[in-house]
Amino acid sequence: MKKQRLIPPASSKVNLADYDPDYTGDYDKQTARDEVRQMQERLQVLQEMLYAQGKHALLIVLQAMDAGGKDSTIKKVFEGINPQGVFVTSFKVPTDEELGHDFLWRIHRSVPRKGHIGIFNRSHYEDVLVTRVNKLVSKQECVRRYQHINAFERLLTDTGTHILKFYLHISKDEQKERFQDRLDRPDKHWKFSIGDLEVRKDWDCYMEAYADALSECNTDYAPWHIVPANRKWYRDVVITRAIVETMEGMGLAYPEPEKDLDKVKIKD
Ligand code: ATP
Ligand code: MG
Repeated sequence: MKKQRLIPPASSKVNLADYDPDYTGDYDKQTARDEVRQMQERLQVLQEMLYAQGKHALLIVLQAMDAGGKDSTIKKVFEGINPQGVFVTSFKVPTDEELGHDFLWRIHRSVPRKGHIGIFNRSHYEDVLVTRVNKLVSKQECVRRYQHINAFERLLTDTGTHILKFYLHISKDEQKERFQDRLDRPDKHWKFSIGDLEVRKDWDCYMEAYADALSECNTDYAPWHIVPANRKWYRDVVITRAIVETMEGMGLAYPEPEKDLDKVKIKD
């Protein structure tokens, strides 16, 4: 299999046709699953150190088309992680109050504090994706928003928040199969929404909007990962690895203990 890059080169124009959603590199299902399990043990330790040290925060942004696997990524990758330090925010259609502010207002309030991991299930990128496809904002306004997003993400990374952005790249055929599965299985009916079929009609427009967002907001301080996501096991291993590698690079350590702990005697 020809090697496929995960992070597009900075300031290059992304063409999603160059990224195969079926790509699985050198992995097979079993190897990928075993590796995820091993890395999760490391992730548990790293997350505890992040929490104990309280110096850094990690923000994970997940974007995808419907049925792209955002929910199941969260479930799989963070299995066994202490829920105390991990917060998930799912961004829906903005409320009236949210619309009364700038588009980053609701986002900024949900950014993780130091010591925490924050996961965004959809994010500020919706404001240059769905809004653009539905013509709620002009192309020109989108260009301004890319600049605001880059400046906002710079602010976060300058102040101790590490950012990892994942676009879960599935094919249109894969989406059809996953929708069909939701229709066929009563326990998955709740996941199906007729409205998702309307969005599917705009697939090509979404791909264009994604390609622009992935091109314009791919910085060295907050890179986009284009994750081949037709195979869930490959998606999970790619994302878990990126998180573990980022956390390994943070210089995490347990804080210095109080002095003379070895002399402490606990009375009966
Ligand atoms: P599920 O897997 O449960 O369907 P979901 O993320 O698709 O999860 P929904 O409640 O179905 O959740 O959809 C949320 C909707 O909110 C999406 O259609 C998304 O495009 C829309 N949305 C999110 N942010 C914005 C925004 N800033 N402006 C307009 N629409 C938005
Ligand atoms: Mg939905």
